[in-house]
Amino acid sequence: MTFASLGLIEPLLRTLEALGYQTPTPVQAEAIPAVLKGRDLMAAAQTGTGKTAGFALPLLQRLTLEGPQVAPNSIRALVLVPTRELAEQVQQSFLTYGEHLPLRSYAVYGGVSINPQMMKLRKGIDVLVATPGRLLDLYRQNAVKFAQLQTLILDEADRMLDLGFSRELDDLFAALPSRRQTLLFSATFSEAIRQMAGELLRDPLSIEVSPRNAAAKSVRQWLVTVDKKRKSELFLHLLRKNRWGQVLVFAKTRKGVDELEGELLRNGIRADAIHGDKPQPTRLRALQRFKDGEVQILVATDVAARGLDIDDLPLVVNLDLPIVAEDYVHRIGRTGRAGASGEALSLVCADEVQLLAAIEVLTGQTLRRVEEPGFEPDHRVPATDASGQVLKKPKKPKQKKDPGGKVHLGRWFDNDEKPAAKAVRKAPAFGKGPAKGAPKGGKPKKP
Ligand code: AMP
Repeated sequence: MTFASLGLIEPLLRTLEALGYQTPTPVQAEAIPAVLKGRDLMAAAQTGTGKTAGFALPLLQRLTLEGPQVAPNSIRALVLVPTRELAEQVQQSFLTYGEHLPLRSYAVYGGVSINPQMMKLRKGIDVLVATPGRLLDLYRQNAVKFAQLQTLILDEADRMLDLGFSRELDDLFAALPSRRQTLLFSATFSEAIRQMAGELLRDPLSIEVSPRNAAAKSVRQWLVTVDKKRKSELFLHLLRKNRWGQVLVFAKTRKGVDELEGELLRNGIRADAIHGDKPQPTRLRALQRFKDGEVQILVATDVAARGLDIDDLPLVVNLDLPIVAEDYVHRIGRTGRAGASGEALSLVCADEVQLLAAIEVLTGQTLRRVEEPGFEPDHRVPATDASGQVLKKPKKPKQKKDPGGKVHLGRWFDNDEKPAAKAVRKAPAFGKGPAKGAPKGGKPKKP
């Protein structure tokens, strides 16, 4: 199958040829013709399967061939994404794929000044990529009008709900024209998302190119059991012993990220960090330095878990397991992209056994366990498997109740993605008070 046989126009085909894309990926093969026909879509695809081009290519084509010129302060297509990094990345994809087309695209998100965004919107934008909170601010200040909107795309829709954007989304949906095309993309589909899809989509084509909630098959996954206090030490040891190249490391909290980054820098290792306390330009620069190979280790909270596309990333390490089991799938999806193979290692301590069990249940596989000589844990991590037996045991009284009642055991998110007007919830250290010996708060270090 070729891109030409899917009905794409010549300027797009020329771009794809220049990019070296020879054949459409499965999600593209299904999505492109359906979107060109104007159908609604509900697509579940693994990360790294090419879903961005799956919606960007046919959308760019429709915007080129159909509809009026964009009016001042108007937009013709809206792509909602959960994080600022993803907004930049998706916008970049629109710029790349639309190179030979006379369309304007732009990204808006919080954490940076709103004024330049308002100025930019004045002329009108064909494709606006946005995080929900900032878009709602712009809408309320009349900087953006939706009357011309013909297509709405929700990318990583489940993540938007996880980040607590459901109120903003409801307000936005109420402001959008009801006659429109809607495409909903997500790597995982919870019941809440299916319900949202039921309300938003009209006779959608369902695409599921991979099993629900499956981790990318091309990623070799394993774990090392270790005591909590020795995790950073173990990471450094494994880094040296295995002569790792570039590694993306996920930690649960901003504090945890800063601590590991500091430890690595003290040991002369080129490291940088991304989390919600860092200003947006610093976050983007850290990501760029990592992508350019200037930095060997990028340490991040779940801000970086979804959507980021890093070429040839061989290894993802979970210094801490994610609180929401679905995030595991997203984190490890940063490696093994576009057909390459990858490796995902988790350092697991006894406190995390239930998180581990939830991940194994979700992915339907028992992770291979290894003990590293010299790092055998004093606090044994109880055996787990994909049956979730451990989850059925009574919970510790100290454990917080999860109002969502899902497989995961609480909610934690890097809540800077929330609109500024909302009270900022501190990220709780799971089931515990603030970590002892943690550095005092204050300004994040500049990379
Ligand atoms: P995505 O899942 O949209 O983030 O895309 C993952 C990676 O696959 C990106 O680096 C794309 O540039 C690349 N890609 C997308 N579609 C194709 C294709 N048909 N052939 C080769 N590479 C692709």
